[in-house]
Amino acid sequence: MTDLLERLVRPEIRALSAYHVPDSTGLIKLDAMENPYTWPDDLRREWLDLLAEVDVNRYPDPQGRVLQATLRDAMCVPAEMAIMLGNGSDELIQMLALTVAGPGRKILSVDPGFVMYRMIGLYAGMRYIGVPLCPEDFSLDLPAVLDALDREQPALTFLAYPNNPTGNLFETAAIERIIEAAPGLVVVDEAYAPFTDKTFMHRLGEWPNLLVMRTVSKLGLAGLRLGLLAGPKGLLAEIDKTRLPYNINVLTQVSATFALQNRGVFEQQTRWIREERVQLLGAVNAIEGVEPFPSDANFILFRVPTGTAMQAFDGLREAGVLVKKLDGAHPMLADCLRVTIGKPEENQAFIEALRSLIDRSRG
Ligand code: PMP
Repeated sequence: MTDLLERLVRPEIRALSAYHVPDSTGLIKLDAMENPYTWPDDLRREWLDLLAEVDVNRYPDPQGRVLQATLRDAMCVPAEMAIMLGNGSDELIQMLALTVAGPGRKILSVDPGFVMYRMIGLYAGMRYIGVPLCPEDFSLDLPAVLDALDREQPALTFLAYPNNPTGNLFETAAIERIIEAAPGLVVVDEAYAPFTDKTFMHRLGEWPNLLVMRTVSKLGLAGLRLGLLAGPKGLLAEIDKTRLPYNINVLTQVSATFALQNRGVFEQQTRWIREERVQLLGAVNAIEGVEPFPSDANFILFRVPTGTAMQAFDGLREAGVLVKKLDGAHPMLADCLRVTIGKPEENQAFIEALRSLIDRSRG
């Protein structure tokens, strides 16, 4: 068996560890940037009535046309731009990579950044170029990115706006320079769009190589797995050729269309999360020895005293709160953890647990 694996499995795949999702049973789940709020009862009933009408013996609409039209409206996609749907934006990243992959082809992004750009690049046989952010504030090191674009000539460049796991927005002017200088496609990944007013959506068409990616995951529909890519028609028609037939299942098409037609509910939840972000940032900041980083997303990255990240992560979990440990993921994230903004009572439980852990570790 070992012999078989060694002979057959690509060495770069064997060297990987599988994407790990920790068990969150019984815990306050603040690790994955989900919206903590569920649907009001009346909406849930209406939705279930709609689902009862769905015929699952048939394949779904291959393009998800009704859903596309609803998304176009909800996400203000310019009329002259095309749309393509993915089973989560992860799948769109994969389609983008498959479209341009080939010998010597490269993906560029910034580090620390969203890990799937690197992973998917690797699955597609591409080389990943990670340009370090500025360590003080995680801003873009524009000269370094421009240098890397020139030197490496990447076919694909990803910029998460706001960035994950750091939570900040990059300078608009710096992103414009990158789009202009890039020899390949530039994808502005707006996964956290519900939590900021900044966007490049209305800038589509200004550059032939700009694409904007969104997801409904952070809005409150993570379980449906639905992402959207918007951009020039000719380009999207090519990328669409790598899409597996019927990639958006019929239950997702019906559910997301219904949810987006009732998006007032999610927009209200998003406003609560944005208000809670201010409270939570203040509360983390008030704990001596803990440094939170400003965030335009639905999570906060924070640094605990040197060498205590593991202890803080385990201690929080013992207190019933699951966060994400980022210490060890990148040198710039030493002693860092990331907490998703939850409901007020969940955030309170997190803050109390963190405060008592830090107090205890200070003796
Ligand atoms: N882009 C960024 C920047 C993300 O943080 C995430 C999810 N953590 C995604 C894309 C993937 O989202 P989806 O659930 O749509 O696959």
